[in-house]
Amino acid sequence: MSYIVNKNDRLHVSVEDLTHDGAGVAKVEGYPLFIPGTLPGEEVEVHVTKTLKNYGFAKLLEIKKPSADRIIPPCHVFPTCGGCQIQHLSYEAQLEQKRKSVRDVIDRIAKLPHVPVHPVKGMEDPWRYRNKSQIPFSTRDGEVISGFYQSKTHKIVDTDVCIIQTEEADAIMTAVKRELHSLGIETYDERTHRGMLRHVVVRKARATGEVMVVLVTLKKKFPQKDAVVELIRRTVPGVTSIMQNINSEKTNVIFGNETLGLYGQSVIIDSIGDIQFEISARSFYQVNPVQTEVLYKQALDYAQLTGEETVIDAYCGIGTISLFLAQQAKEVYGVEIVPQAIEDAKRNAELNGISNAYFEAGAAEDVIPRWYAEGKRFDVLVVDPPRKGCDEKLLQTILRYKPKRVVYVSCNPGTLARDLRILEDGGYRTEEVQPVDMFPQSSHVESVAWLEIGL
Ligand code: SAH
Repeated sequence: MSYIVNKNDRLHVSVEDLTHDGAGVAKVEGYPLFIPGTLPGEEVEVHVTKTLKNYGFAKLLEIKKPSADRIIPPCHVFPTCGGCQIQHLSYEAQLEQKRKSVRDVIDRIAKLPHVPVHPVKGMEDPWRYRNKSQIPFSTRDGEVISGFYQSKTHKIVDTDVCIIQTEEADAIMTAVKRELHSLGIETYDERTHRGMLRHVVVRKARATGEVMVVLVTLKKKFPQKDAVVELIRRTVPGVTSIMQNINSEKTNVIFGNETLGLYGQSVIIDSIGDIQFEISARSFYQVNPVQTEVLYKQALDYAQLTGEETVIDAYCGIGTISLFLAQQAKEVYGVEIVPQAIEDAKRNAELNGISNAYFEAGAAEDVIPRWYAEGKRFDVLVVDPPRKGCDEKLLQTILRYKPKRVVYVSCNPGTLARDLRILEDGGYRTEEVQPVDMFPQSSHVESVAWLEIGL
């Protein structure tokens, strides 16, 4: 079989687009070539490394004409480290790129070219935003290394600094790395399933400044624990909680089931807007606190509550959106599949003196039809599903009972667009889509869509 493009060809191409994982796309007589490290608008020399039937890959040799939006990535391990994909694109251009990618699926998949997709709400300072770091430790050539996994691998890219995580996380990562050997602690080895320290997790509550450090160890018996606690407290005097989590399994999952206190409190307290949250070692919590507030405000704006409404928050996690909505609604019903998260949600409602929020553990697609069958009625439905989007059964329930307004919070524009089409076909009208940048420097984008039932 012959292709327009062959392996080992050297070509001069124009880059037109950017993929989700940050590779530039050039078309050679309609045949797409993916070229990591390039940007739309650039003219480049490339070496073709692989050709498949419908697309191929090439390596960048030389940039003939750079994009006006290209910048020098500030991080020294970019792009080897898989954490960020688009540090070489100016922040303004990142936001425009994200708007374009949402616009594209709203046009193509949702078939809603007339629906406004607003400019992405971005951050004033798009660095040091992550409130949680999960740092793997290992040993290479006798040296302790720690950092982040290279994209799609389990190979650690060793670094002392990550400029999207907190300064506290940098300090703890580096101090533990430097001192580990002298403390007599071995790092965990995935192949032999031996060695004590697996991960160090650092979480910071932005509003209160409280910091939690979790040491994930292979065994419960951890003779050097006092020395590590000492080291961490000396490194970051503001640490308020140090925990040990035991993970004895041969697994990629970071946490095991058992968590013990080593120092201070077992939770840290953060707040979003006026609502306080208790975060424990394993609680799910949004990782960008500044933008979480922007996202939730947007959802609240689109919900247009007057105090009279009964609202559902489906896929509610630890009840963050629910408690936000509860301040302005008559009642909020939250549903979430992880029972522990529902326990957290109930405790957080109590902590804030909120008595009009109810939570139930279960699958949204099972629990919501049951609520309706029991005679409950809802004015507004907020959904915030995982990447795969809403379950078909939940969409059918929405179409059957037709709550007046739906606010759809989505971390995946593709499945959002698919679900908007289904809701449109069932009689809903999409009014607006507002993307929010929760993950600067990465190619992810979050969106909020507002729908009303048509007459
Ligand atoms: N709204 C929350 C969490 C959103 S993440 C926040 O902003 O923090 C999506 C959540 O959906 C996760 O907590 C996940 O556990 C939950 N989930 C996944 N499948 C589900 C299902 N079928 N029914 C209910 N919840 C589900």
